[in-house]
Amino acid sequence: MEKYDLIIVGAGPAGIFTAVELLRHGSKKKVLLVEKGKPVEKRHCPKAEVGHCVNCRPTCAITTGFSGAGAFSDGKLSLSHEVGGDLPTLIGEDFAQELIEYTDKIYLEFGADPHVEGIYTGEDIKEIRKNAIHAGLKLVDCPIRHLGTEKAQELYLAIQNYLADNGVEMLFSTECENIILENEECKGVLLKDGDSLRSVYADEVVIGTGRRGADWLEKICAEHHIAHKPGTVDIGVRVECRNEVMEKVNKVLYESKLIGYPKPWKNKVRTFCQNPGGFVAQENYDNDLAVVNGHSFKEKKSENTNLAILVSHNFTEPFNQPIAYAQKVGELTNMLGAGHIMVQRYGDILDGKRTWQKELAQSNVKPTLKDAVAGDITAAMPYRAMTNIIEFIKMLDMVVPGFAANETLLYSPELKFYSNKVKMDENLDTNIKGLHCLGDSSGWTRGLMMASVMGVLMGRKLAEKEGC
Ligand SMILES: Cc1cc2nc3c(=O)[nH]c(=O)nc-3n(C[C@H](O)[C@H](O)[C@H](O)COP(=O)(O)OP(=O)(O)OC[C@H]3O[C@@H](n4cnc5c(N)ncnc54)[C@H](O)[C@@H]3O)c2cc1C
Repeated sequence: MEKYDLIIVGAGPAGIFTAVELLRHGSKKKVLLVEKGKPVEKRHCPKAEVGHCVNCRPTCAITTGFSGAGAFSDGKLSLSHEVGGDLPTLIGEDFAQELIEYTDKIYLEFGADPHVEGIYTGEDIKEIRKNAIHAGLKLVDCPIRHLGTEKAQELYLAIQNYLADNGVEMLFSTECENIILENEECKGVLLKDGDSLRSVYADEVVIGTGRRGADWLEKICAEHHIAHKPGTVDIGVRVECRNEVMEKVNKVLYESKLIGYPKPWKNKVRTFCQNPGGFVAQENYDNDLAVVNGHSFKEKKSENTNLAILVSHNFTEPFNQPIAYAQKVGELTNMLGAGHIMVQRYGDILDGKRTWQKELAQSNVKPTLKDAVAGDITAAMPYRAMTNIIEFIKMLDMVVPGFAANETLLYSPELKFYSNKVKMDENLDTNIKGLHCLGDSSGWTRGLMMASVMGVLMGRKLAEKEGC
């Protein structure tokens, strides 16, 4: 019988930092890390050569593999407990902040850039905050450590080597099919390697499967009665405009985190993942859903800045499938865009007309996502989400004059699935003995730093149990 002390499913930041922290505490546990994607050095997206997404099977190199959705992401570490998920409500804000500072030091040890952006002082920030207050927006202070896409890959390779050198076994291209329960205790996992299935046992199982694994974990929760509640979904757009328009906030804030509650519904609407000089990107989920995202490189810069505007959706009764709801919105948008991301000018939305491909060429702002299809995103966006986005853009225009220009581009669908929230205590124990759920798949985090922090905390708790 194949048996380990600990099996970690998913080599994203949450899973990786569980193993890193265990080693830092001198743990002697026999650890297996299972990952359905590839090792970090073998992750390669063909889009760089062919210019468009080729829908890689069985896994997408952008979102799977060692370091999870992190390695090919922009690698912006948010250093405030106010950003990145609800974990602070479980463990306390002060402790969450302490863990962020501790985890940040680990990132620095593995080669992160010591420079921190977004520490705000001076007259310019006062002016921006004043305008935000006037517009009815909250400006959240959040220092950012920017790894950059290329640097992030180097850093995670160093972590991968550190884990391998210290005896952590890593199984790549291997998917966890299910967990093994005996007398309501988790005893291991069922692994799929090609066409074959095998059982591997462990005293403790940690699941950190990320947003890609959200649907899978939802199924596992239902099948094994793992206590959870429906999470939030964010539906929105990726907005792109010229760097000149965003110059002041890019310079002063680097990433502006603004939150508003526009009329008439007063739903939470926020900016997210701002990429000065960045590029809009397409991501494909396993179920073929094409969604939009954005990233920026440390060296290579575009003439545009992109950021997401997200509208939070929480459902009460009787509906309990927020992920399915957002997926339907995405599917409808994909259908109208013939499988591609759709893009529309803000002015065309206000004028009630679609955007034509030739009209994009008439603007100052040129789309950085070249295979996006000009069309009408309002034909697929729910009325409530669309109105929230339009009203929020008007509010933002008071902070960033020119943001609500006719030529500003809105790409759709930008969807953030936060997974069901798995019920856990402050020891990260679920109602199933021996089972812990971490990171974005647990519903408690939604960012690189907070997922890493949750991993660190898990590592500590397991080390404490071991007595080290
Ligand atoms: C393009 C992009 C840009 C981003 N930019 C930023 C950013 O700048 N800053 C920020 O804070 N956040 C960013 N994020 C979000 C960030 O990457 C995630 O919040 C973070 O990676 C979550 O960590 P995690 O460990 O919970 O999950 P993930 O990083 O998603 O890792 C989960 C891993 O589990 C594996 N897995 C899933 N299911 C299974 C299974 N059944 N069996 C085995 N393995 C499985 C997956 O392959 C994946 O490698 C970005 C995300 C994307 C996609």
